[in-house]
Amino acid sequence: MGGLNPPPVLVATRSAHKLREIRGLLADLPVRLLGPADLGLPEHEEEDDLEPFDTFARNALSKAKYFHRRSGLPALADDSGLCVDALGGGPGVRTRRFAPAEWVEHWGRDEANNRWLLDRMSDVADGARGAHYRCAVALTDDLRHEVVEGVVRGRIAGRPSGSGGFGYDPLFVPEGHHRTYAELPAAVKTATSHRAEAIRRARGWIEREVLVTSRTRESNRGGRI
Ligand code: IMP
Repeated sequence: MGGLNPPPVLVATRSAHKLREIRGLLADLPVRLLGPADLGLPEHEEEDDLEPFDTFARNALSKAKYFHRRSGLPALADDSGLCVDALGGGPGVRTRRFAPAEWVEHWGRDEANNRWLLDRMSDVADGARGAHYRCAVALTDDLRHEVVEGVVRGRIAGRPSGSGGFGYDPLFVPEGHHRTYAELPAAVKTATSHRAEAIRRARGWIEREVLVTSRTRESNRGGRI
């Protein structure tokens, strides 16, 4: 890249899965996508309270602003979840904390959530199992912020299948497919997911606010670091 240092962007998540997906989706951009651990930012209890709002967008912005304050770097945060038609759009922003604590203790979070979801849907007929994943991506630096969203429609399978992806992927069958995201090749999720769509929409901000700003700074310094 003409000898320039790729500018850093903090991906404001403690989820290794989200970090991996986001890195993959932005791999072609000349930025360094760092997780909080890469910066040695210790996990604080207050991080548990960063998502108190009733929209993905506000929760994503809350996480991005918090990690921007702690790092001083432009920050990108993802808040996402599953909205099931038969559950009136739930669990929605409560997706991560859907299953009761005792279930999570017993099964671990992802498996408990999947089992709880199947339990809630045990009498929902095949034709009424529609759902969507929604993802809000918030971007912020000192002066500006932006929030963009992506959605993928699908349905909830009758039982879990596959070992790829994370979270509810063993139950989520994206529209146009007959297998779950956990069974399909990772490239299908990369091309079609809620996160992929939101990150596509986030690219413009990164190009404008991170890359152009960093190039301008570099050229003001005569191209030297
Ligand atoms: P967040 O950390 O509040 O954004 O929680 C996201 C919740 O939605 C977690 O329970 C995730 O497992 C679930 N989730 C978000 N995106 C995905 C996905 O791409 N696949 C499966 N589950 C997801």
